[in-house]
Amino acid sequence: MSFLIFQGTLVHAESASQPLKILHNHIIGVNKNKIVFIEPEGRLRELSQQHGFQLEDVQVMEGQFLIPGFVDTHIHAPQYVYTGTAMNLQLLEWLNKYTFPTEAKFANLEFAADAYRKVVHRTLKNGTTTACYFATIHKEASLKLAEIVAHFGQRAFVGKVNMDANSPEYYVETTEQSFKDTEWFIKQVQCLNNPLVTPIITPRFAVSCTVTLMKKLANLAELYGLPIQTHISENKDEISLVKELFPECSSYADVYQSCGLVTKKSVFAHSIYLDDKEIEVIKHHGSAVSHCPCSNFMLRNGILDLRKLWDKGIKLGLGTDVSGGYSPSMLSSIRQSVIATNVHKMQQGAAYNSIDYKELFYLATLGGSQVLGLEDRIGNFVVGKEFDALLVNPKAAGSPFDVFNSSFSDSIEDIVQKFLFLGDDRNIQEVYVSGRKVIPTTLDSNSFF
Ligand SMILES: [Zn+2]
Repeated sequence: MSFLIFQGTLVHAESASQPLKILHNHIIGVNKNKIVFIEPEGRLRELSQQHGFQLEDVQVMEGQFLIPGFVDTHIHAPQYVYTGTAMNLQLLEWLNKYTFPTEAKFANLEFAADAYRKVVHRTLKNGTTTACYFATIHKEASLKLAEIVAHFGQRAFVGKVNMDANSPEYYVETTEQSFKDTEWFIKQVQCLNNPLVTPIITPRFAVSCTVTLMKKLANLAELYGLPIQTHISENKDEISLVKELFPECSSYADVYQSCGLVTKKSVFAHSIYLDDKEIEVIKHHGSAVSHCPCSNFMLRNGILDLRKLWDKGIKLGLGTDVSGGYSPSMLSSIRQSVIATNVHKMQQGAAYNSIDYKELFYLATLGGSQVLGLEDRIGNFVVGKEFDALLVNPKAAGSPFDVFNSSFSDSIEDIVQKFLFLGDDRNIQEVYVSGRKVIPTTLDSNSFF
């Protein structure tokens, strides 16, 4: 049967102003990879005749509900190997002491394949149906990540990282090699011919790239019609260094703008200290920002004023920023975002309009899809969109929270909220990407490739 049909509760974001909508007693039908109907369950019989499916094929969700898959707009796949460790330093020291030595090991393809299998499997288990990955400077290992993503069935943007300046001698490229390897990588990923996997241009950050390389990368992005991802304005020392390295530019955003890297397909991670002019630059070009609060707290970089960017109309999504962020779960990003916005509320006073959990649910799903230019394909449950979804079971074995059905009965809204604040991968019973069930999987994260 090519049909998937679920009956019960659907929870999704309709829009920024309707960020968490609950559809009770509905049925959703998926044919191959696309949603073909979403209707009240009273129409079930009629729909079965119309679409030719049997009533016994309907998966009835008793006490469970469907949400769209999470979109992680910023994650470093190689850093997964030391996630949950090395939280004692600030950004620039952290990069030199932990990150670069680890990423350099990805020259070894076997090591890379093992790490990448594990991170793809782990993020899928945690409900990340779309990930925007940084890999390393190594073209073969970066391609391996793309292949593993394709094999496990995740939707992803995969970037071979570019670094031709201010980097350790054991982990740096020449400008020419960086450019050539990137073009090779783009062509190889395109040869995979997988509509779920897209190469993304990935200059690490302005500090580790020359102007020449950044301009060449901008040309590549234009030539191949590709998105771009990088970091911006994450840490005060980093910002001072960028000022020192690029005295001809008026700001950090201006460095990227002058190189042609600020486009409507660009994703800028962090953006904590952008001034109003820089925010205007991002907005003017239609670029997006990935908010990574777990990482911002752990590396003690600062706290983004998410509401300010929201009110300015910047495209926004959430990221785990593994492993500056210690958790590969987008649920953690949602929770840390609540803490971040609460800090702003405490600092700025009662008039400050903090971001609520419903808006964060929107950012983790539909907002993320907009950041990556995928809003016409995924992000919520709309007829014609691809089916990227999580079947959430609040009463799963070992669930880290309890549901009350007695006199203090939980509403479905309470249960969704409990899942967002207390749930984990044990509650994520099934994961679908483009209509394919990818969790549970028979693929072993230890033993293929
Ligand atoms: Zn990052």
